[in-house]
Amino acid sequence: MCEGLTVSSEFKGFSTRAVHAGRGFDAGTGAVMPPVFLTSTFAAGNPGGFDYTRSGNPNFRLLDCTLAALEGGQFATCFASGVSAITAVVSTLKSGDTVFAEENVYGCTYRLFDKVFSKFGVRVIYADLSDPANWGRIVQERPALVWLESPTNPLLKVVDIAGISAVAQFVGAPVLVDNTFASPYLQLPLTLGATLVLHSTTKYINGHSDCLSGAIVTNDAAWQEKMIFAQKALGLQPSPFDAWLTARGARTLALRMEQHSRTGLELATWLEGRPGVRTVRYPFLASHPQVELARRQMRAGSGLIVAELDCDAATALDVCRALKLFTLAESLGGVESLVCHPATMTHASVPRAVREQVGIRDGTVRFSVGIEDVEDLRADLERALKRLKTDGK
Ligand SMILES: *Cc1c(COP(=O)(O)O)cnc(C)c1O
Repeated sequence: MCEGLTVSSEFKGFSTRAVHAGRGFDAGTGAVMPPVFLTSTFAAGNPGGFDYTRSGNPNFRLLDCTLAALEGGQFATCFASGVSAITAVVSTLKSGDTVFAEENVYGCTYRLFDKVFSKFGVRVIYADLSDPANWGRIVQERPALVWLESPTNPLLKVVDIAGISAVAQFVGAPVLVDNTFASPYLQLPLTLGATLVLHSTTKYINGHSDCLSGAIVTNDAAWQEKMIFAQKALGLQPSPFDAWLTARGARTLALRMEQHSRTGLELATWLEGRPGVRTVRYPFLASHPQVELARRQMRAGSGLIVAELDCDAATALDVCRALKLFTLAESLGGVESLVCHPATMTHASVPRAVREQVGIRDGTVRFSVGIEDVEDLRADLERALKRLKTDGK
């Protein structure tokens, strides 16, 4: 699939592969970067084997080959969004099938299972997969699919991908890892035994918050066929321009992830123990419950920090709004810093009791640290946190 579209296998570096994927695609013109193929259809019998953009386009192929190379997989299929990629995978299941899922999955994933796929008879069992005591149920339930994220949203729990994959393999259950929060630069689930890697490439892989896209990467040819079928049959393809933007963003993934992770660790360390800050969650902080696993499984901690402020929801929102460099917005993974208040934003529809049970309190805020200078981000946080009444502590 990627013949001539990826750098020769003698070059092993992550950034070399990211930068050189797709170079020389338009050999006839010498264009150094690929064009956008804005076409809905292709003349029959063309050497690239393209027919209609719903089932393939040169920009999709370039993106697919880039993502496969970065995830260390043989195949990738791009989609219109992360949610489209989820839809593609779940569309392969049938009524009566069971999905065994991490209980802290992304809100949109939960909503799709709960409001859409449940109507088609797909049963989902949720468990805390960061606790190995719950893995035995994979053997008992023999699910059609094990679904996990690591780190999770918004609690940044770290889940042992290799451990779970080994158990799932025992009963032949494929394991899907949503790798959106880590990106392939920080974590490679296929090498840890996962069958499928899912991405909302909207986030770190594109990295510039200018389009939506998603992808599935695998080494399993049968799964790849199912993904290509779902892309075409369900109309889940991205636009060629969005695929082009995403592939362009991916070229600088390593540089960005290094910077996000460096700043993330520095700000998390600084925030921890500050007056008015109850707890700080960051995978590479010594206080993180799975820090050992995080250090084993990930190259660095990524750019998300979750802090619980010692205040009510209104004050937490007030702090978020007082920030000048962190925009109050959903999403994550862009070069610009964002802040989100889950209790009134992403998880507003979740009843308080359920929300608190999964660890989202009124004072919980999630930062997606961008690549701005750390001194400026820290100064911005310091000023905004003064809004907390800390009784002179
Ligand atoms: C954003 C996100 C999704 C959904 O992706 P979209 O591109 O917004 O459709 C799925 N999983 C995770 C972890 C995400 O962050």
